[in-house]
Amino acid sequence: MSNSAEKSRLLVCPPDFFGIEYVINPWMEGNVHRASHELAIQQWRGFAAALEKNAELEIIAPQRALPDMVFTANAGLVLGSDVVLSRFFHGERRGEEQHFQKWFAAHGFNVHELPRDIPFEGAGDALWDHARSILWAAYGMRTELEAHPHLAQMLGAEVVSLRLIDPRFYHLDTCFCPLESGHIIYFPAAFDAHSNRVIEQRVPPELRIAASEDDAENFVCNAVNIDREIFLNRASDELKERLRAAGFRVIEMPLDEFLKAGGATKCLTLRLDEPPLRLPVKPDGERLRGKSSVEHRVLEIEGHLLDSGLLERALELSVNEGGSFRVLSFELGKERQSKSRAVIRIAAPAREILEKITAQLIDLGAVLPREEIADAELQSVTQAGVAPDDFYVTTIYPTEVRANGKWLRMENQRMDGVVVVDAEIGVDPARARCVLIRDLQIAEKIVVGTRGIRTVRDAEAREIRGRRSDGAAAGADEFTFMGAGVSSERRVELVVDQIAWELRRIRERGGKVVVVPGPVVIHTGAGEHLARLIRGGFVQALLGGNAIAVHDIEQALLGTSLGVDLQRGSPVRGGHQHHLRAINLIRRCGSIAAAVEQGILTRGVFYELVKNHILFALAGSIRDDGPLPDTQMDLLKSQAEYARLLKGAEMILMLSTMLHSIGVGNMTPAGVKLVCVDINPAVVTKLADRGSLESTGVVTDVGLFLSLLVQRLCPQPS
Ligand code: NAD
Repeated sequence: MSNSAEKSRLLVCPPDFFGIEYVINPWMEGNVHRASHELAIQQWRGFAAALEKNAELEIIAPQRALPDMVFTANAGLVLGSDVVLSRFFHGERRGEEQHFQKWFAAHGFNVHELPRDIPFEGAGDALWDHARSILWAAYGMRTELEAHPHLAQMLGAEVVSLRLIDPRFYHLDTCFCPLESGHIIYFPAAFDAHSNRVIEQRVPPELRIAASEDDAENFVCNAVNIDREIFLNRASDELKERLRAAGFRVIEMPLDEFLKAGGATKCLTLRLDEPPLRLPVKPDGERLRGKSSVEHRVLEIEGHLLDSGLLERALELSVNEGGSFRVLSFELGKERQSKSRAVIRIAAPAREILEKITAQLIDLGAVLPREEIADAELQSVTQAGVAPDDFYVTTIYPTEVRANGKWLRMENQRMDGVVVVDAEIGVDPARARCVLIRDLQIAEKIVVGTRGIRTVRDAEAREIRGRRSDGAAAGADEFTFMGAGVSSERRVELVVDQIAWELRRIRERGGKVVVVPGPVVIHTGAGEHLARLIRGGFVQALLGGNAIAVHDIEQALLGTSLGVDLQRGSPVRGGHQHHLRAINLIRRCGSIAAAVEQGILTRGVFYELVKNHILFALAGSIRDDGPLPDTQMDLLKSQAEYARLLKGAEMILMLSTMLHSIGVGNMTPAGVKLVCVDINPAVVTKLADRGSLESTGVVTDVGLFLSLLVQRLCPQPS
């Protein structure tokens, strides 16, 4: 290569074979065969003539059937006499690689190549910022994040990774342009939040020129900056003024025909005289070289990876959280019952993002490879009711914690707790238990980070579903037919049949069913059905609020629910006071049980609970009238009481109460069958969508649901 020229040197490729032959970006959509060849040639020549005043143009011969070769920015990334060749993401452009490779070799460049399977699209996705002596590099669309550490190492540069999230801005040079003055022109919405933070940390506000959406769509960021000149397609007066104020002269070069393919001035050129970096010198005189913040971690994931969609979810979340993945190995379980195993390598642009992805993958059941498994990191509580930073947050899934070299199954599994490990180092037996933040005691040791944590998913969860409340295995007859998810179209009768079948079996084996009803159960006239289920032995505990009890008792004592006569369906004169009279009566007795003993309360849901010695808990709320003496107005106490009654539950019927159902859902570990009945699909979805196989949502009227259930379970009044 020659280095005599004072002018900048740019590689260009005449558009002899340019055309839109395929669609590999949103700009090309609808434009196939729609670019005018004559106009394209005319526009390109005009641009080349303008450039020649400031730069020396080197020409690479265009090739037939490679219509995008005009976009030489994607040939590779040059620094001094080195070039890293592109590895195109799309097969349509891979044919260009050999031509660029030959050209660089013939012109004296040291040609570097990335490993075969790592896509990288050259100076389209990697931009030198000589003012900062860094390389800005993108991932998320074409270039793979894994390419960044290779670039750092091959070119001895500091690489700053940015994630692209808008497919219109599929290359970094379509939405980001470092200028020689240290300014950048960029379109912030093309990047994720982390990348925007990184940009803001590196470039002070006075040097950041944010393009409007209109300007970004006109490709203002796809600009060629040579000294004080900026060549771009088209810009608003406002932006031109801003650039003028920063000391630049804007030269507009209409390139509409190329814009149809998603490229403008910058895409059509590759700078060949990128000067070597002015690298910072460390105190010991050595230069800082080859730096990338990209971190990796290998994880294994095992289970019914394909049929349960687990692998797809794991890979999707890695990308959505700003990382990228590579499946290192995959063993497919050949039979329906056999498990699959995948080893995946996650890359992230920063340690904190990698930790966040790892935590979520561990929640999905991923584990570190055997050789990397270590004890969980423990930190002591120094303030009662406050956890150390970075505490591990529990999920609904059975979790194991490694302490003293052994895996311990966590007790009291529930979501939104922390893990306390009761273990003296080197002393057994140790225990791990799930505790709420507010209950933490000083000096307790809790797990921080995700090391030494594994979540048991999939096959085991199925086994737990078939377990009895006393922990004994119920045999191989687990039920799987009640599919997870929500369906309003699903015939209610069919779901009711299945629930009835399961309720009967739980009763036969002495299991535990918890009912969580709202006052709507009474208003819809279904109180008598629930009372019959209790009398029939199908309910082992009831959790609710003040209202379900108030309205049930009002109905039992005065024949109305909120003043409405349920027999006739019409309001009763003075009926609006009925619920207060009912509350007053129970308050006089001292409790609901006392009212039953005194012969005052003789029918209804709560009468049956008392008579059949079924435990119940009523949690207070700000809406409550009264309250009844049985309603626990101390929220923490009522949460504890709910948790106590939920222990050992195999099935929970949540009947038209959003408040109490969500409260109960949060306390319940995976493996417990949840049935949520509500007329509002949003409520059902929220409860059923816990990512667990055991939730069934039924969108229907609770009165209809209970009447069908009672018809199946107690056909004759019992
Ligand atoms: P909520 O809003 O949490 O839940 C009611 C649910 O019932 C909603 O999700 C709704 O979609 C659903 N629903 C309505 N009609 C239905 C039907 N026909 N079939 C199926 N689903 C139906 O309200 P909540 O749980 O009733 O009450 C919240 C809190 O307020 C509770 O603690 C309750 O005890 C209290 N409260 C107290 C009083 C009182 O003391 N007098 C009165 C009302 C509520």
